[in-house]
Amino acid sequence: MTRLEKQLVKEMADCLFYLDRPGASPVDEEKAKKILRDRVPKKMVKAIQSAPAPGSIANIPGLADKLIVLWPGHQPGGGTTGERAWNIRLASIMRDLICANGGECKLFRHSLKPYGVRQNAMRSKMISDAPNAVINAELHYNGVSYDSAHGHEFMFYGTPALAGAVRDSWQATFAHSKARHDNGIRKVGESDRGAGFLRKSPCASILHEPFFYSNPSEKSFYLARLEEIARVNVVGYSKYLMEFSH
Ligand SMILES: [Zn+2]
Repeated sequence: MTRLEKQLVKEMADCLFYLDRPGASPVDEEKAKKILRDRVPKKMVKAIQSAPAPGSIANIPGLADKLIVLWPGHQPGGGTTGERAWNIRLASIMRDLICANGGECKLFRHSLKPYGVRQNAMRSKMISDAPNAVINAELHYNGVSYDSAHGHEFMFYGTPALAGAVRDSWQATFAHSKARHDNGIRKVGESDRGAGFLRKSPCASILHEPFFYSNPSEKSFYLARLEEIARVNVVGYSKYLMEFSH
């Protein structure tokens, strides 16, 4: 195991709760090793290791006493190259940032059961373990088999306010970057990707697709910006909480 893998295993053991094994949470170290089955690309290792700790990041308002639930995409399986490791690291930085600003954050891990089944389990788990959650978010990045697809996109079902606030935060931060392409926010259809997750959420929800790993310029621009992306996401949550949530 590399040093990074050890670090990720520790983070998972510290913070991820099993969806399908409520009695066994948080994840123990042996389980965490199994979650981290896929190889982490070298570039990813560098990006993840160079991300600074969020302890010194400036104050973000509106988070005090708010409970936010994060689901790092593809725990335990699937996803684009390296995505599972990146998602868990991003979630972990976001959690630290939320907690440093007086909020509370729980990281949940999807069930091993088929996607259709786990939507209901997800909802029950949130209602039992995070009944006061005000934001429910699933973290991903995109990937296709060709390199021209690009842009960030945020999906919702129900209120568009949360996805809108996160999108605004992305636009504000990356407005001057050539790598920025805004695909906007999108209400998912009944059978769309992520539909079950968003539809079953007991509170405002969002599914993040911040960039395309399959696009070389987006990959090199965004991979190295873990801390910045975490902050941009949390600033978006803050805007939503201050303007729309009471
Ligand atoms: Zn994904």
